[in-house]
Amino acid sequence: MTKKDFGMATVPPHRLVTSLEDKLSALETEFHGAYWESQIEATPESEAKRAELELELRRLKGDPEALTMVTEAVGEELHEPVLKRQLEVLHRSLIANQMDDELRAEMVTVSSSVETEFASFRPEVDGVRVTDNDILRILSTSTDEDERRSAWEASKEIGARVDDRVRDLARLRNQASRDLGYADYYRMSLELSEISEGWLLSFLDEVERLTHASYSSYKDALDASVAQRLRVDSVYPWHYADPFFQEVPPNGRVDLSPVLASSSAADLAAETFAGWGIDLAKVLEGSDLYPRERKCQHAFCLDVDRTGTDVRILANIVPGEFWISVMLHESGHAAYDLMIDQQLSYLLHRPAHTFVTEAMAILSGRMVREPKWLTDVAGIETGVVGDLEARLRHTSAAQELLMARWVLVMAHFERELYSDPESDLDSLWWALVERYQMVTPPPDRSAPDWAAKIHVAAAPVYYHNYLLGAVLSCQLESEIVADCGELIGNRAVGEWLTERLFRAGNLMRWDALIQQATGRPLSADDFARFVTL
Ligand SMILES: [Zn+2]
Repeated sequence: MTKKDFGMATVPPHRLVTSLEDKLSALETEFHGAYWESQIEATPESEAKRAELELELRRLKGDPEALTMVTEAVGEELHEPVLKRQLEVLHRSLIANQMDDELRAEMVTVSSSVETEFASFRPEVDGVRVTDNDILRILSTSTDEDERRSAWEASKEIGARVDDRVRDLARLRNQASRDLGYADYYRMSLELSEISEGWLLSFLDEVERLTHASYSSYKDALDASVAQRLRVDSVYPWHYADPFFQEVPPNGRVDLSPVLASSSAADLAAETFAGWGIDLAKVLEGSDLYPRERKCQHAFCLDVDRTGTDVRILANIVPGEFWISVMLHESGHAAYDLMIDQQLSYLLHRPAHTFVTEAMAILSGRMVREPKWLTDVAGIETGVVGDLEARLRHTSAAQELLMARWVLVMAHFERELYSDPESDLDSLWWALVERYQMVTPPPDRSAPDWAAKIHVAAAPVYYHNYLLGAVLSCQLESEIVADCGELIGNRAVGEWLTERLFRAGNLMRWDALIQQATGRPLSADDFARFVTL
């Protein structure tokens, strides 16, 4: 098929890119604006506007004619690297959105029904309806074996209500991918995000190997203290402080909230980045930072028009460590967006990869446990910080260790789910939990506990990005410290990040960028050192 079949004269690649980029930037910017409005003030009108623009955007990106032209142009021999990169970015974005209308409609129906079920279902513990927060409270405080077990089982009930639909979603996603010539949805998603499946699998194996000893010893010590505190002989999943054993238990970590109680999260974020020579004043001015009725309860950062001049953060700051760390995290994303080269066009004016901006955010978020940050930025007395130092280090390492082993479960599970949605996923899930998290499965349990994790349905083939981001954050940190010395309050750090990481936007693939920034390919070595307890 040639371009002429669509009644169009041959369009030179430059003009093809410019014309598609113009349409895309106009519509996507409008969508971002509507998305922001719907998140800061959820009304039927703002929700309808957001949904309408989202659909329009999907249609534009799903245009088969545009894909044909871009596919042809991308196959041509081009000697302009920037143009070539723009075409590649466009190509991947168009492929990801191709789908016949019937299939797309079915997928939207199934996934929204699953998400609605997650949002509305409330299980019961002892005849009382409970929320996620109630379950978390029981798991982090109760010493009553029956109550803990009931609360944990209640947290899994949603799985049995949605598992058929989640399997359906996997089948539908696979069908759409096969129509495009990919083996399955997992492989398509990785390829479209420029990650090779073989590379990812060996990376996951490497992380398993490098974290094995630290994790085993952390887990043994934790289990011993759990067994003693709860007076049990064997430790089962309901003895941990959260339903999936993802977090450091509250009694095994430093809580900085009391010493940070009177600090402003926004001011601390501004000061942290000012120390790196990055001015967040304009970002904070355009942001929506405090809780309100009808406002999204989470946090995110949005570069509205991808020019770096309208970057906003949504947060729900209340006093304490948690929101200070979240503000630092989101400010990391914002700094990246702000410092991308202004000359880059819309398609390339974005971070090199989701996990690369995530690495910057993770690096920024954990500053809250850096002793020098606590004294120099937060103004805590040196003596107080000195007393906490060893435990702060232990908390940071434990958090990354738990996250890494949990991501291994999720990443391997998703690969198997899309390889064969008909397999015995219930047993597979517990085999993976036992292997990677070293958690003893409940005796005789047969239930679709995997479906109780909303990400399997709602954020497919995404979880590995958390681990890649954490690993890269450690590699960046060691190179920065080696090149610039001190991390906190050092302008050279901001220059390093801007010149080596941010400025290039999406001009090159993530692997080339990491090689350029750190002088070596991404590896888990620094991460392994970071999590050594
Ligand atoms: Zn993030």
